[in-house]
Formats: sequence, C-alpha cells, structure tokens
Amino acid sequence: MKILRSPKAMTAWSLGLRREGVTIGFVPTMGALHDGHRALIRAARLKCDALVVSIFVNPTQFGPAEDLSKYPRPIAKDRTLCRQEGVDICFEPTAAGMYPEGFQTTVTVPEISRLWEGAVRPHHFAGVATVVTKLFGMVRPDLALFGQKDFQQAALVRRMIDDLNLGVTLIVHPTVREQDGLAMSSRNVYLSPEERAAAPVLFKSLQAGVAAIRGGIQDGARIQSIMKETLRRHADAAIDYLAVCDPQTLEPLQTVTSQAVLLGAIRIGSVRLIDNMLASRSKTSTTRRSRSK
Ligand code: AMP
Repeated sequence: MKILRSPKAMTAWSLGLRREGVTIGFVPTMGALHDGHRALIRAARLKCDALVVSIFVNPTQFGPAEDLSKYPRPIAKDRTLCRQEGVDICFEPTAAGMYPEGFQTTVTVPEISRLWEGAVRPHHFAGVATVVTKLFGMVRPDLALFGQKDFQQAALVRRMIDDLNLGVTLIVHPTVREQDGLAMSSRNVYLSPEERAAAPVLFKSLQAGVAAIRGGIQDGARIQSIMKETLRRHADAAIDYLAVCDPQTLEPLQTVTSQAVLLGAIRIGSVRLIDNMLASRSKTSTTRRSRSK
C-alpha cells in the first residue's frame, strides 16, 4: 500500500490507471477507522480493480464549538486496517494541501442542507459537499462508497453527483452496528461506561418506529411520539430530532403511504449520536387497509 499526501500525486496515479482501463473505487473517511469503515472498504474492494481510502479530518465541516481538535487520529492503526483490507492508496492530504492560500469556492446543496443535521450544524454540509467534490476531483473514482449511517450525507452526495454530472457511481452501504444495536462511530470512544450502556436507546427508538409502520400506523406524528416515548422510557437523553421522512427529499411525512426513513439525533451527556432506519409498510398492513376501504 502506498501513502500519498499530495493531491497532484493522487490525481496523477489515478489518471495513469484510468488510461489503462483500471476501475477505481474510493472510500472517503475521517480516519479512526472501525468495523463500519472496514465493511465499506471490503465492499469497495470487491467492486473495483484499484482502491483508494482517504483519511482527512476536514476542518470546514466542524462548527466552532465542535470536536475538531479532539477528534481521534490513530493514523498508524488506520494504516494497518487499510493494509489488511488490500487498499492500494491511503490518501492523507493535509489541510494546507486541501485549502491552499486563495481558496474560495464552496459547493452547497441548499435544500437537503437546510434539514435535520444541517439545521443543527449550519455549515456542516457545505463543508462536506465541498470536500467530497474536491476529493472526487483528486481521486477520479469510478465508484464511491458511503455509509447509510450518515443517511443525509449520502442523500446530499447523490444529489450533488447528479446535479454536477460528476460521473461517480454512488454505493450506500448498510449501517454496521455493535451487538446491542449501537451504530458504530468514531465518536463512540467519547462515551463513558454509563453513557455507552444508555447509547443503544436511539436504535431501540428507531426500531419502535419501524415496528409501528410495519404494524400499519401511518400517521407521522404518532410514529414520532412512539419513538420519543421509547427513548424517554429507556434513557435520559436530549433529543435533537426524531423524524419520519421521505427517503428521497428527507422532508417530514405527515402520512406514511409506502416507504419512510426514520432519522434520529440525540445527545447523551456531551456526546451526540445519529442513526436512521428505512421502513416500509408491510404487505399485510397495506392489504388490510385496502380491504377495509
Ligand atoms: P467518517 O469517517 O465518520 O466520515 O465516515 C466515513 C464513511 O464511513 C461515511 O460514508 C460514513 O457514513 C461511513 N460509516 C461510518 N460509520 C459507519 C457504520 N457504522 N456503518 C456503515 N458506514 C459507516
């Protein structure tokens, strides 16, 4: 495995391979790699000839009061994981290399960025959209893997690829979870033992929402209150949002007619957790409803 830090060297490597017809897969990350990242890397490995993983803690997607300086950076461990998984290039640009003197262009995806994570973290998605566009420009991948764990981010990247004709195939990988349901995240290391014990409550709350939809409940507000009640019953957590949304637009749904995505963000102590689940009305509940018409 090669480690590259220079954007120019990264692009030169990719263009050389592309000329030979080699397909390039790409997994962008902020490092502190865990089994969720590993699953994305493995899935990418199976779908391409050459594989690039980027490790870059992007300063522009952090708010002033967020955890940029304390974000975990176990680079030696990360490189070992990449080596184990057959990564060809570990791309580790520097902040100065990414945002040199004079840099001024920003990519925004306004509609998707206005909602949920974007409402709580105002500049976050402009930071994400800009850095992903830059990384695509540097790595020139044929396909890129993102995790469902960050559902809104994946929706934003999909929109951006389409809107800007970036020519990258997006693959969204299912969320990888701990045994008790907690979605794996680099930020889980911030949880104290008590907070860690309480953390699966978000998973439980989303599961209760999915069960309600499968059971035939269609009213968005009712599904939302089932999720909130489940959360309150299990832990002392502050809710940023627990929402029943359209999986494409992410707008809240008053009525679930077919598919929904349940989006959640909570705070346990000072640690913020996000998660989501897709839910479909079961065939039986749809049939029951049409029969009773
Ligand atoms: P991050 O390093 O947190 O920026 O994440 C890099 C990529 O890994 C993003 O596409 C995330 O959605 C994805 N990812 C993070 N955690 C998980 C997880 N538990 N399961 C699946 N994908 C994940």
